[in-house]
Amino acid sequence: MTDLTTLLDDPRLSADERAALEAFAREEAAALGLDRDVEQWTERAAPTFTREQRSRTTLWVAGLTWSQDLFLSAALRGAGYDVQTMPVPDNEALRLGKEFGNRGQCNPTYFTVGNLVKHLRRLESEGLTRQRIIDEHVFLTAGACGPCRFGTYVTEYRKALRDAGFDGFRVMLMEQKGAVRQATGEPQGLEFNLPFYRALLQAFLGGDVLNIMGYRIRPYEVEPGATDAAIERCRALMVETLEARGSIFKALWRCRRELDRVQVDRLRPKPVVSIIGEFWAMTTEGDGNYELQRFLEQEGAEVHIQPITNWLLYLLWVARRDTQRRSTLREDDDARAGLAGKGAAWKTVLGLEVARLGLHGVFNAFAAAIGLEGWHLPDMDHIARLADEHYDNELRGGEGHMEVGKVLDNVDNRHAHMIISVKPFGCMPSSGVSDGVQSLVTARHADLIFCPIETSGDGKVNVQSRVQMMLFRAHERARAEFDEAVRSTGLSLDELRRRAADDPRATRALHHPRHQLVGTGANQVLELAASQGRLGVRRRLRKLARALSAS
Ligand code: SF4
Repeated sequence: MTDLTTLLDDPRLSADERAALEAFAREEAAALGLDRDVEQWTERAAPTFTREQRSRTTLWVAGLTWSQDLFLSAALRGAGYDVQTMPVPDNEALRLGKEFGNRGQCNPTYFTVGNLVKHLRRLESEGLTRQRIIDEHVFLTAGACGPCRFGTYVTEYRKALRDAGFDGFRVMLMEQKGAVRQATGEPQGLEFNLPFYRALLQAFLGGDVLNIMGYRIRPYEVEPGATDAAIERCRALMVETLEARGSIFKALWRCRRELDRVQVDRLRPKPVVSIIGEFWAMTTEGDGNYELQRFLEQEGAEVHIQPITNWLLYLLWVARRDTQRRSTLREDDDARAGLAGKGAAWKTVLGLEVARLGLHGVFNAFAAAIGLEGWHLPDMDHIARLADEHYDNELRGGEGHMEVGKVLDNVDNRHAHMIISVKPFGCMPSSGVSDGVQSLVTARHADLIFCPIETSGDGKVNVQSRVQMMLFRAHERARAEFDEAVRSTGLSLDELRRRAADDPRATRALHHPRHQLVGTGANQVLELAASQGRLGVRRRLRKLARALSAS
């Protein structure tokens, strides 16, 4: 097709033909509104958070688990900032998010944006003027998880805040790709120095090990509520230490003693349920996923969570893989994150590998300090290899290939009786792409109990009853495994209970029986059966001590 400019340049045109064509072009331009100067819309940047404002500015933190939000607030207070923790988003936050957000967003957007609006309204109802809220408060939260709707979070926050009457309120996003940026300009009030990154690391990893301990101990506690009470004491200890910039290892060690006081009875068959899915939906502990973790525990399950550390390892894996792939195009790779004109790619890869090893090292050190036994961080290369046949490793957004890789890893290593994949309503990568692939994976592994659920804020009862139905099968499987374990030992359950009473490890919250079968109860049975010789000696010693004290 020939365009009008080319036609007008044609020397064979007569003067009349040219005039007619020019008149036609003018008419069309007028009809399309192209004959006027149009001012393009640009987002107006709100004031930045400057260093000079720091002493009179309160940072509000939210977006991860409650422990991690508390620890991050405390660690940043320790680094010299005035920081408070915002509550976990609830259904009221969702309602406000929908009221002030754009149509067609995914659930985490509505929950997190609405939570901020709700919180600012609360500050206002407590007597602060809007201008003071805008001038003296900043929100710091997790940012993008991939090339999906998270990419528009910045604009969403601005729009919702503007429409709710808080135009100019400052929001800073900790990009999950490592950087921190301000939704309303470049940050200056936050200094990205060693104390800041140390605060992040301590909060994320310290929260991870404490969360894992809680989910491990709670299902088997003898006294209801004892674990929660111990976890509360641990949180207070950690907050105090992080604020005072004390030794986190000492704090974790003290937490270990608190947790060790909880008495447990692991000789119970409970299904292990692994929660995977979209990052925010599987991490939040409130209405955002219908309090799924607590619901499962109430239904008699042991919950297996995904620590934030897994996500950090995935980000390092992505960065390493992309660097390696881009290094073959070095000279042409002049995009913003490209390698053209930068140092040798191998140095970047080496740096990322050192970061990965460092992350493993710090997590394992924290785990050892708090008494977390037998927890292994995933090998991201292995997860990627497992997933690649079904889900291309180059596909990014949400959890990328990780959801599929985690399911296949569970097929191989039997970590859980059942897997729940949580995805927020409207999530493109997780429900649109990953779930489609999972249907093939589950068809190939018919033995899997896989339950994908979509969280939309409403429909709680439907989701919970769906989970209950699948959980029934997982209960049966855990019970059969437990009974078979007991049968295989040739001992009665009463005898195993007698042995458990004699073996301090069996009632210790910190102990974790070696992973042989899926269920913790079944593993405890096997461990007690194998400990006969040691227990026999212990019993004889105890008998001897009793005889000596009686004589
Ligand atoms: S991964 Fe899904 S839920 Fe999360 S931000 Fe992207 S589109 Fe939304």
